[in-house]
Amino acid sequence: MDKFNSKMEHITYLNNMQNDLLIWFSDNGRLRIPWKLKEDGSRPDIGEILSPYGIWIAEVMLQQTQLKVVIPYWHKWMMTFPSLVVLAEADEQEVLLVWQGLGYYSRAKRLHESSKILVNLIGKNNISDLSFWPIELDQWMALPGIGRTTAGSIISSAFDFPLPILDGNVRRILSRLFATNKSNLQDSKRLWTLSERLVPNHNPRDFNQALMDLGAIVCTSNKPKCNFCPIQNYCLAFLKYDPRDFPNKDLKKVILFQEIGLALIFNKDGELLIDQRLDSDSMGGMWEFPGGKKESGESIEKTIKREIKEEIGIDIKLREKLLSFEHTYSHKKLFFTVYLCDFLSGKPRALASQKLLWVKPNRLLKFPFPAANKKIIFALFKHLGIEKENL
Ligand code: SF4
Repeated sequence: MDKFNSKMEHITYLNNMQNDLLIWFSDNGRLRIPWKLKEDGSRPDIGEILSPYGIWIAEVMLQQTQLKVVIPYWHKWMMTFPSLVVLAEADEQEVLLVWQGLGYYSRAKRLHESSKILVNLIGKNNISDLSFWPIELDQWMALPGIGRTTAGSIISSAFDFPLPILDGNVRRILSRLFATNKSNLQDSKRLWTLSERLVPNHNPRDFNQALMDLGAIVCTSNKPKCNFCPIQNYCLAFLKYDPRDFPNKDLKKVILFQEIGLALIFNKDGELLIDQRLDSDSMGGMWEFPGGKKESGESIEKTIKREIKEEIGIDIKLREKLLSFEHTYSHKKLFFTVYLCDFLSGKPRALASQKLLWVKPNRLLKFPFPAANKKIIFALFKHLGIEKENL
């Protein structure tokens, strides 16, 4: 039996560790996360059921985004789509508009798709009765975009069931706690087993949140604050090694850099051409300004003209540069150059998008645009003297 198994078999050790972490959580944890509170704003009792709807939305928003960023988006979402049925019956464009700014737009589309599946599963008339909502891991994992961690987190948060989670924070804590000196990926199976064994039958909702909070506040990636850690006495990495060596860092991601030329094409009526991305693309269904990637040896002005010809089949005249800026995504960095352009000739065709539209600039905010395009819209408003408040 290896070192962590022998430790884990030790019930007293486990209970003490769970208790120490829960005591720390009650004093230091993030106790006011809105979707983990009851409608009257109070904290639920142990075993009390919370509405899975808001928790599910929040968990999907949190998949690639930090808590403090998610909270205002979650409030806006709950105001716009206060129930599963309202969401299921909403127009996809409206869903994307509310999600706008959170990135990874396929998550919003999957939520929308999943809402219809859940309404069918639960039954439209049963939605407000929480006992009809799914409580099995498999049922949640059958929804598009829901993995084991998200499903476990939804069920433990809503129903207070003892299901393990394994997000980035929990992975890091477990690999330090048990000094599992292998890469994250190879160790996944083992870490799931550890997380399963750690989660208590009593108060698992708070325990899982406590683990996540410990990872966010104390057991951080580069500088773990071990002197303030409630589970220091149980942590093999702290007791025997250097915690910063766990988990073994994977090779750094290579960040791709690309230059992009975009055209704000005006017709004689002062309307602007926008296109809707193909559903199969990342950010599918969102709107954007046409343009594309600069090829090597090409000037950015040439890129814009070429892309517009290839993707829309029209000729344009570049009038003046509106702005250029850098925008960083998780895996790539894009440098945008945006020109104000005039439509010259040809019949616009959606050769690389699903739809083209001519719109008055003051209607642009009615359409969901990715974050980078929002910068362009506000620069355009400034250029045209359009006050945002008057839209
Ligand atoms: Fe993390 Fe340090 Fe606590 Fe170990 S002692 S769990 S490394 S903060």
